[in-house]
Amino acid sequence: MNNRMKLEFSALSENEPFARNAVAAFCLGLNPSLDELSDVKTAVSEAVTNCIVHAYRGQTGTVVIECETEGDAVHIQISDFGRGIDDLKKALEPFYTTSEGEERSGMGFTIMQTFMSDFSVKSEKGGGTSVRMSKYFGRNKSSEVANAE
Ligand code: ATP
Ligand code: MG
Repeated sequence: MNNRMKLEFSALSENEPFARNAVAAFCLGLNPSLDELSDVKTAVSEAVTNCIVHAYRGQTGTVVIECETEGDAVHIQISDFGRGIDDLKKALEPFYTTSEGEERSGMGFTIMQTFMSDFSVKSEKGGGTSVRMSKYFGRNKSSEVANAE
């Protein structure tokens, strides 16, 4: 049977490690390798950071993460209800960032696409952004399996 979970938390930077580790813990049931788990954590970290930094720009807001397993895959949706993305095509380009002068490289979406098996994003100006990504575990036979304990 498919497993699922839903997390809702404040868009605060201190919640980013919590979110990434909670999703990783949920994935342990699928026996991911350490590399695969690390990929998921990195992608979740980038998506949640975007919600915190861009969607609400330091204002209060909510982030929702929904995860569902399907066979050897996990589907992860990370949503905010913030400002939305003005130009989605540009935002997906490597090195594109709207944060001038800040320490942003514009690589978050590129990292998500590289580290996950599937990736898509929907955004509505003023209505929020939703990133959906999937990871298929066990496709690259890796030796080290993360321990569920
Ligand atoms: P980095 O991730 O390397 O620190 P970055 O966040 O600017 O830099 P991306 O994560 O690729 O780079 O995002 C590209 C751009 O898309 C951002 O600069 C921002 O303008 C926009 N963006 C991304 N996520 C959101 C979001 N959740 N809400 C509003 N705008 C977003
Ligand atoms: Mg980013």
